[in-house]
Amino acid sequence: MKVGVLALQGAFREHIYSLEALDVGAVAVRKPEQLDACVGLIIPGGESTAISKLMASYGFYAPIQARHGEGMAVWGTCAGSILTARVVVDGIEGQKSLELMDVAVRRNAYGRQADSFEADLEFAGLSEAYRGIFIRAPWIESVGEGVEVLARHEGHIVAARQGNCLSTTFHPELTGDPRVHRYFIENVIGSQLRGPQGR
Ligand code: GLN
Repeated sequence: MKVGVLALQGAFREHIYSLEALDVGAVAVRKPEQLDACVGLIIPGGESTAISKLMASYGFYAPIQARHGEGMAVWGTCAGSILTARVVVDGIEGQKSLELMDVAVRRNAYGRQADSFEADLEFAGLSEAYRGIFIRAPWIESVGEGVEVLARHEGHIVAARQGNCLSTTFHPELTGDPRVHRYFIENVIGSQLRGPQGR
């Protein structure tokens, strides 16, 4: 079993390199059938409206929701965090999300004054700060009851988890720091990768 990276648009290659650097089998997912072999799926940063349209035309919505229901872990980074949210604030008209996580995510939350920036984050469970790279990033505006907040930046939630769904509004695949990928593999995918078919 492998960890898939949705490879329709955006920073999917960098996630594949990050997984390979941790010795985890990674697969670029371009067709829904490939999800059957994945214990986890990363939805990368990029442009959520473009990824969403491509997901609809390749028929990804129902299969991702179904595989997630069967236990496939999902991690959305930046645009991916918009796509996994139950509610998208300031999306384009009719912008569709997977509704996997009970959060509202505000698209382009930082506006023009800070389109892109870096900041040290306190990430729950990591002993030292994690350098977050934010690129026209969203933030998580509100969370439902079952959602654990993992990191904030200036009061706004930038990482959260609900069961086997993880959401980060920054780009851990661009830092070369493997700790959030390791967190996803060890804590969110967890025991599924350590089984006899694991790595
Ligand atoms: N602003 C983008 C969007 O709305 C997200 C940016 C990113 O993924 N770096 O999808």
